[in-house]
Amino acid sequence: MAKIIAITNQKGGVGKTTTSVNLGASLASLGKKVLLVDIDPQGNTTSGFGINKADVVHCIYDVLINDVHPNEAMVDTALENLKIIPATIQLAGAEIELVPTISRELRLKKSLQLVKHMFDYILIDCPPSLGILTVNSLTAADSVIIPIQCEYYALEGLSQLLNTVRLVQKHLNTTLQIEGVLLTMFDARTNLGMQVIEEVKKYFQQKVYQTIIPRNVRLSEAPSHGQPIITYDPRSKGAEVYLELAKEVIAL
Ligand code: ADP
Ligand code: MG
Repeated sequence: MAKIIAITNQKGGVGKTTTSVNLGASLASLGKKVLLVDIDPQGNTTSGFGINKADVVHCIYDVLINDVHPNEAMVDTALENLKIIPATIQLAGAEIELVPTISRELRLKKSLQLVKHMFDYILIDCPPSLGILTVNSLTAADSVIIPIQCEYYALEGLSQLLNTVRLVQKHLNTTLQIEGVLLTMFDARTNLGMQVIEEVKKYFQQKVYQTIIPRNVRLSEAPSHGQPIITYDPRSKGAEVYLELAKEVIAL
Protein backbone atom coordinates (compact mmCIF):
# COMPACT_ATOMS: atom_id res chain seq x y z
CA MET A 1 0.00 0.00 0.00
CA ALA A 2 1.38 3.37 -1.00
CA LYS A 3 2.33 6.03 1.46
CA ILE A 4 0.58 9.18 0.27
CA ILE A 5 2.58 12.37 0.81
CA ALA A 6 1.27 15.87 0.10
CA ILE A 7 3.97 18.41 -0.75
CA THR A 8 2.51 21.61 0.48
CA ASN A 9 3.11 25.24 1.40
CA GLN A 10 0.68 27.98 0.42
CA LYS A 11 3.60 30.19 -0.54
CA GLY A 12 4.49 30.05 -4.21
CA GLY A 13 8.05 29.54 -5.39
CA VAL A 14 9.34 27.58 -2.39
CA GLY A 15 10.21 24.41 -4.31
CA LYS A 16 7.04 22.29 -4.07
CA THR A 17 7.03 21.35 -7.74
CA THR A 18 10.79 20.91 -7.98
CA THR A 19 10.59 18.59 -4.98
CA SER A 20 7.58 16.65 -6.30
CA VAL A 21 9.23 16.06 -9.65
CA ASN A 22 12.70 15.24 -8.38
CA LEU A 23 11.83 13.36 -5.20
CA GLY A 24 9.35 11.35 -7.29
CA ALA A 25 11.95 10.62 -9.98
CA SER A 26 14.61 9.75 -7.38
CA LEU A 27 12.30 7.35 -5.53
CA ALA A 28 11.48 5.73 -8.87
CA SER A 29 15.17 5.40 -9.74
CA LEU A 30 15.68 3.60 -6.42
CA GLY A 31 13.14 1.03 -7.54
CA LYS A 32 10.02 2.37 -5.85
CA LYS A 33 6.74 2.52 -7.73
CA VAL A 34 5.65 6.14 -7.70
CA LEU A 35 2.54 8.04 -8.73
CA LEU A 36 2.78 11.82 -8.95
CA VAL A 37 -0.51 13.67 -8.66
CA ASP A 38 -0.44 17.21 -10.02
CA ILE A 39 -3.19 19.13 -8.27
CA ASP A 40 -1.96 22.64 -9.09
CA PRO A 41 -3.91 24.28 -11.95
CA GLN A 42 -0.60 25.67 -13.20
CA GLY A 43 0.37 22.10 -14.04
CA ASN A 44 4.10 22.62 -13.58
CA THR A 45 4.75 19.04 -12.52
CA THR A 46 2.92 17.93 -15.65
CA SER A 47 5.05 20.07 -17.95
CA GLY A 48 8.14 19.16 -15.91
CA PHE A 49 7.85 15.69 -17.47
CA GLY A 50 7.45 17.06 -20.96
CA ILE A 51 3.76 16.22 -21.07
CA ASN A 52 1.99 18.43 -23.57
CA LYS A 53 -1.18 19.64 -21.85
CA ALA A 54 -2.99 19.88 -25.19
CA ASP A 55 -2.59 16.08 -25.51
CA VAL A 56 -3.97 15.28 -22.05
CA VAL A 57 -7.17 13.27 -22.34
CA HIS A 58 -8.19 13.10 -18.67
CA CYS A 59 -6.59 15.24 -15.99
CA ILE A 60 -6.98 15.37 -12.22
CA TYR A 61 -9.99 17.65 -12.78
CA ASP A 62 -11.88 14.76 -14.39
CA VAL A 63 -10.96 12.51 -11.48
CA LEU A 64 -12.20 15.04 -8.92
CA ILE A 65 -15.27 16.36 -10.70
CA ASN A 66 -16.32 13.86 -13.35
CA ASP A 67 -15.66 10.61 -11.46
CA VAL A 68 -13.12 9.44 -14.02
CA HIS A 69 -11.18 6.45 -12.63
CA PRO A 70 -7.60 7.48 -11.76
CA ASN A 71 -6.31 4.62 -13.91
CA GLU A 72 -7.77 6.36 -16.94
CA ALA A 73 -6.10 9.66 -16.07
CA MET A 74 -2.66 8.15 -15.36
CA VAL A 75 0.06 8.59 -17.96
CA ASP A 76 3.48 7.00 -18.21
CA THR A 77 6.68 9.01 -18.02
CA ALA A 78 10.11 8.26 -19.48
CA LEU A 79 10.99 6.69 -16.11
CA GLU A 80 9.90 3.11 -15.73
CA ASN A 81 8.49 3.24 -12.22
CA LEU A 82 6.90 6.66 -12.43
CA LYS A 83 3.40 7.58 -13.52
CA ILE A 84 1.63 10.90 -13.30
CA ILE A 85 -1.93 12.14 -13.12
CA PRO A 86 -1.58 15.45 -14.95
CA ALA A 87 -3.21 18.81 -14.29
CA THR A 88 -4.36 21.28 -16.88
CA ILE A 89 -5.78 24.77 -16.50
CA GLN A 90 -9.22 23.15 -16.44
CA LEU A 91 -8.49 22.47 -12.79
CA ALA A 92 -8.72 26.19 -12.03
CA GLY A 93 -12.51 25.84 -12.05
CA ALA A 94 -12.48 23.05 -9.49
CA GLU A 95 -12.10 25.33 -6.45
CA ILE A 96 -15.52 26.76 -7.22
CA GLU A 97 -17.15 23.71 -8.75
CA LEU A 98 -16.35 21.55 -5.73
CA VAL A 99 -18.07 23.90 -3.28
CA PRO A 100 -21.63 22.57 -3.69
CA THR A 101 -20.70 18.89 -4.14
CA ILE A 102 -21.27 16.18 -1.55
CA SER A 103 -18.23 15.23 0.56
CA ARG A 104 -16.16 17.65 -1.47
CA GLU A 105 -13.12 17.38 0.84
CA LEU A 106 -12.97 13.59 0.37
CA ARG A 107 -12.92 13.42 -3.43
CA LEU A 108 -9.19 12.90 -3.88
CA LYS A 109 -8.97 10.47 -0.97
CA LYS A 110 -11.71 8.28 -2.44
CA SER A 111 -10.09 8.27 -5.87
CA LEU A 112 -6.59 7.49 -4.62
CA GLN A 113 -7.91 4.61 -2.54
CA LEU A 114 -8.67 2.90 -5.86
CA VAL A 115 -4.99 2.89 -6.89
CA LYS A 116 -3.14 2.93 -3.57
CA HIS A 117 -2.27 -0.78 -3.87
CA MET A 118 -0.40 -0.19 -7.15
CA PHE A 119 2.35 2.05 -5.73
CA ASP A 120 4.91 2.49 -2.97
CA TYR A 121 4.59 6.27 -2.91
CA ILE A 122 1.98 8.72 -4.13
CA LEU A 123 3.22 12.32 -4.08
CA ILE A 124 0.75 15.18 -4.44
CA ASP A 125 2.08 18.52 -5.73
CA CYS A 126 -0.20 21.09 -4.08
CA PRO A 127 -1.18 24.54 -5.36
CA PRO A 128 0.03 27.71 -3.62
CA SER A 129 -3.13 28.18 -1.56
CA LEU A 130 -4.97 26.64 1.37
CA GLY A 131 -8.17 26.20 -0.64
CA ILE A 132 -10.22 23.12 -1.30
CA LEU A 133 -7.63 21.46 -3.54
CA THR A 134 -5.06 21.60 -0.76
CA VAL A 135 -7.64 20.43 1.79
CA ASN A 136 -8.43 17.48 -0.52
CA SER A 137 -4.71 16.70 -0.65
CA LEU A 138 -4.25 16.88 3.13
CA THR A 139 -7.32 14.70 3.60
CA ALA A 140 -6.03 12.08 1.16
CA ALA A 141 -2.49 12.09 2.55
CA ASP A 142 -0.79 10.02 5.21
CA SER A 143 1.72 12.81 5.74
CA VAL A 144 2.98 16.16 4.47
CA ILE A 145 6.35 17.43 3.34
CA ILE A 146 6.70 21.18 3.82
CA PRO A 147 9.37 22.80 1.63
CA ILE A 148 10.73 26.03 3.09
CA GLN A 149 12.85 28.39 1.06
CA CYS A 150 16.00 29.56 2.84
CA GLU A 151 15.28 33.24 2.66
CA TYR A 152 13.95 36.17 4.62
CA TYR A 153 10.37 35.65 5.87
CA ALA A 154 10.83 31.88 5.49
CA LEU A 155 8.60 31.18 8.49
CA GLU A 156 5.96 33.69 7.51
CA GLY A 157 2.65 32.02 6.77
CA LEU A 158 3.71 28.74 8.37
CA SER A 159 1.41 29.15 11.36
CA GLN A 160 -1.48 29.43 8.91
CA LEU A 161 -0.36 26.25 7.17
CA LEU A 162 0.07 24.37 10.46
CA ASN A 163 -3.35 25.59 11.54
CA THR A 164 -4.87 24.14 8.37
CA VAL A 165 -3.05 20.86 9.05
CA ARG A 166 -4.52 20.83 12.58
CA LEU A 167 -8.03 21.54 11.29
CA VAL A 168 -7.76 18.69 8.79
CA GLN A 169 -6.45 16.42 11.56
CA LYS A 170 -9.41 17.35 13.75
CA HIS A 171 -12.20 17.06 11.22
CA LEU A 172 -11.12 15.04 8.19
CA ASN A 173 -7.98 13.00 8.68
CA THR A 174 -7.02 12.23 12.29
CA THR A 175 -3.89 10.28 11.34
CA LEU A 176 -2.29 12.98 9.15
CA GLN A 177 1.35 13.50 10.11
CA ILE A 178 4.18 15.85 9.27
CA GLU A 179 6.55 13.69 7.24
CA GLY A 180 9.30 16.28 7.16
CA VAL A 181 10.35 19.86 6.60
CA LEU A 182 12.66 20.43 3.65
CA LEU A 183 14.96 23.43 3.39
CA THR A 184 15.30 24.51 -0.22
CA MET A 185 17.30 26.94 -2.36
CA PHE A 186 20.02 27.25 0.23
CA ASP A 187 22.82 29.61 -0.72
CA ALA A 188 25.99 28.93 1.27
CA ARG A 189 27.39 32.34 0.34
CA THR A 190 24.92 34.23 2.55
CA ASN A 191 24.59 34.33 6.34
CA LEU A 192 20.86 34.56 5.89
CA GLY A 193 20.61 30.98 4.69
CA MET A 194 22.34 29.73 7.84
CA GLN A 195 20.07 31.86 10.03
CA VAL A 196 16.98 30.42 8.38
CA ILE A 197 18.25 26.88 8.91
CA GLU A 198 18.77 27.62 12.62
CA GLU A 199 15.35 29.15 12.96
CA VAL A 200 13.55 26.34 11.14
CA LYS A 201 15.40 23.69 13.15
CA LYS A 202 14.48 25.45 16.40
CA TYR A 203 10.86 25.35 15.34
CA PHE A 204 10.54 21.89 13.77
CA GLN A 205 13.48 20.11 15.46
CA GLN A 206 13.96 16.52 14.31
CA LYS A 207 11.29 16.92 11.62
CA VAL A 208 13.79 18.83 9.45
CA TYR A 209 15.47 16.65 6.82
CA GLN A 210 19.25 16.32 7.05
CA THR A 211 19.35 16.86 3.31
CA ILE A 212 19.28 20.55 2.45
CA ILE A 213 18.58 21.46 -1.16
CA PRO A 214 21.05 24.10 -2.41
CA ARG A 215 20.42 26.56 -5.14
CA ASN A 216 21.44 24.74 -8.29
CA VAL A 217 20.95 26.18 -11.72
CA ARG A 218 20.58 22.74 -13.31
CA LEU A 219 17.49 22.16 -11.16
CA SER A 220 15.87 25.27 -12.59
CA GLU A 221 16.83 24.37 -16.17
CA ALA A 222 15.56 20.79 -16.15
CA PRO A 223 11.80 21.59 -16.42
CA SER A 224 12.24 23.45 -19.69
CA HIS A 225 13.74 20.23 -21.08
CA GLY A 226 10.76 18.27 -19.78
CA GLN A 227 12.97 16.12 -17.57
CA PRO A 228 13.68 15.51 -13.91
CA ILE A 229 17.22 16.31 -12.84
CA ILE A 230 18.35 12.68 -12.68
CA THR A 231 17.97 12.27 -16.41
CA TYR A 232 18.69 15.88 -17.41
CA ASP A 233 22.01 16.05 -15.53
CA PRO A 234 22.61 13.01 -13.33
CA ARG A 235 26.00 14.30 -12.18
CA SER A 236 24.76 17.65 -10.95
CA LYS A 237 24.58 18.63 -7.30
CA GLY A 238 20.81 18.87 -7.70
CA ALA A 239 20.55 15.24 -8.77
CA GLU A 240 22.76 14.17 -5.89
CA VAL A 241 20.78 15.97 -3.19
CA TYR A 242 17.36 14.80 -4.36
CA LEU A 243 18.66 11.24 -4.38
CA GLU A 244 19.86 11.77 -0.79
CA LEU A 245 16.44 13.09 0.13
CA ALA A 246 14.76 10.05 -1.43
CA LYS A 247 16.95 7.77 0.69
CA GLU A 248 15.98 9.73 3.80
CA VAL A 249 12.31 9.44 2.93
CA ILE A 250 12.63 5.69 2.38
CA ALA A 251 14.52 5.24 5.66
CA LEU A 252 11.74 6.86 7.73
P1 ADP B 1 6.58 26.05 -6.11
O1 ADP B 1 6.06 24.79 -6.75
O2 ADP B 1 6.59 25.99 -4.61
O3 ADP B 1 5.88 27.28 -6.61
P2 ADP B 1 8.96 25.64 -7.73
O4 ADP B 1 9.44 24.28 -7.42
O5 ADP B 1 8.18 25.82 -8.99
O6 ADP B 1 8.13 26.21 -6.50
O7 ADP B 1 10.22 26.60 -7.71
C1 ADP B 1 10.12 27.98 -8.01
C2 ADP B 1 11.23 28.37 -8.99
O8 ADP B 1 12.50 28.16 -8.39
C3 ADP B 1 11.24 27.53 -10.26
O9 ADP B 1 11.61 28.35 -11.33
C4 ADP B 1 12.28 26.48 -9.99
O10 ADP B 1 12.90 26.00 -11.18
C5 ADP B 1 13.26 27.22 -9.12
N1 ADP B 1 13.92 26.35 -8.15
C6 ADP B 1 13.35 25.51 -7.27
N2 ADP B 1 14.26 24.88 -6.52
C7 ADP B 1 15.49 25.33 -6.94
C8 ADP B 1 16.84 25.07 -6.54
N3 ADP B 1 17.13 24.24 -5.56
N4 ADP B 1 17.82 25.73 -7.20
C9 ADP B 1 17.53 26.60 -8.19
N5 ADP B 1 16.29 26.89 -8.61
C10 ADP B 1 15.26 26.27 -7.99
MG1 MG C 1 4.43 24.51 -8.02
